[in-house]
Amino acid sequence: MSEFVDCHCHLDLFEDHIELLRECDQKKINVLTVTNAPCVWKRNYELAMPYKYIRVALGLHPQLAEERKNELGLFEKYIKETRFIGEIGLDGSKEYIKSLNVQEEVFKRILKLCSNYNDKILSVHSRNAARNVVMNLKAYYPIEKGKVILHWYSGSLKDAISAVRYGCYFSVNERMLQTQSGISLIKNIPRNRILTETDGPFLKRDEKPLRSMQVNRALNILSKIWGIDMLQTKEVIFVNFNELIK
Ligand code: MN
Repeated sequence: MSEFVDCHCHLDLFEDHIELLRECDQKKINVLTVTNAPCVWKRNYELAMPYKYIRVALGLHPQLAEERKNELGLFEKYIKETRFIGEIGLDGSKEYIKSLNVQEEVFKRILKLCSNYNDKILSVHSRNAARNVVMNLKAYYPIEKGKVILHWYSGSLKDAISAVRYGCYFSVNERMLQTQSGISLIKNIPRNRILTETDGPFLKRDEKPLRSMQVNRALNILSKIWGIDMLQTKEVIFVNFNELIK
């Protein structure tokens, strides 16, 4: 059976959320499903409780930082109940640059909260803000406190290498692996720092939201870049995932 890894997706944003939870668990897909606001975490957590392959992260998406910053109290309340944190981070793209100051405030606050623990695993968004994200991680989250995954990384190679030195993992999806910069990222980052993701339903294939079981295409592209077969590629990602959560 499968033992695939989907390290960043939003199962609660699919129309058939409940069915999808069951499907992922049955197919033994190790899922890290992130949430975008603290107010939805509890329900997500409870729904996923029966399924051992599903892990639910507590998040406050940077694109919602402005309107949801009042939920930081809830974040603080729930943080004791889960190891998994995300989606958090910064978004410096045109539509969100106006809220960058608030985003930074929220991100720093969350990093400081996480650094009070020794076991957190963070899934971090860094669109158009990679350098800023890495700077904040270095300043406010000592990596020996936990683990950090940069999801759908699209910054420079230089900042990626700086993130590797700090200790980051990278969760990569089929879309980014079809770009020159994505391929170059894979060629320049140690294999033991790579994980796979779908980012469904935000990422689509043929206009349909990508489901966790479709993460095999990312694996397939990785196997070509690495020049090893699918089974070996799957094994690399599975070993990395186990190292991440051990
Ligand atoms: Mn996402």
